[in-house]
Amino acid sequence: MSRLFEDAGKTKGRKWQCFVCGKNHTDYEEYREHIVTEHAEGREYICCPAEGCGAPVRDLKVHYRAKHPNRPLPQGIQHRVAIWRDFKSDGSKKKTKKPKFRQGTFTSKKNGRDFIYRSGMEEEFFNLLEQDRDVAGYHAEPFKVPYFWQGKWHDYIPDLRIDYIDGSTEVWEVKPADQTHYEQNRAKWAAMTDHAHNMGWDFIVQTEVGLGKLRTKIKRQQVLTD
Ligand SMILES: [Zn+2]
Ligand SMILES: [Zn+2]
Repeated sequence: MSRLFEDAGKTKGRKWQCFVCGKNHTDYEEYREHIVTEHAEGREYICCPAEGCGAPVRDLKVHYRAKHPNRPLPQGIQHRVAIWRDFKSDGSKKKTKKPKFRQGTFTSKKNGRDFIYRSGMEEEFFNLLEQDRDVAGYHAEPFKVPYFWQGKWHDYIPDLRIDYIDGSTEVWEVKPADQTHYEQNRAKWAAMTDHAHNMGWDFIVQTEVGLGKLRTKIKRQQVLTD
């Protein structure tokens, strides 16, 4: 069998090793299914869009160079995953490259507690929510919602729950626009939309567009008081 997928075993006889968690698999199908059901598309893997391929990979550019040298690399889509780890053949962690995304602790005066942010975008949303006078309080990763995807039940945890002074509530997912089209995200968000409607809330996927709008809103609030 010819190996089509550069992210799997590099030497002959080596098992199919998941590049996200290091778990070994005996055949390619099992390996592929493991990645697409257990891991997060866009954050941890990307599916090759080339016709007849569909391999989960970490770096599309490298994959195209090796496996589809005669096809042009598609533009306008994500080329590299956000999280990149390396594993020894026994599945133990070798090293973790510094992730490209920012992660840290945000101290919220409004809520009187700390929150973990998992991207620079999330951190910026925290900053703006802190200033937004319409917001009474907000919570990061507030609850779980079950969703069915690829034949199994999983849990989805949205990024934020926002409680407004007027008594309304919104649930937000913060996601760069180039990661919103993934099938797994759509399954999560469909389940969340149902849950929100049952609770009388709104569910919103906030991208760079929403961030820009919120920035403008805060500026306007500040001008009005000055
Ligand atoms: Zn894995
Ligand atoms: Zn491919």
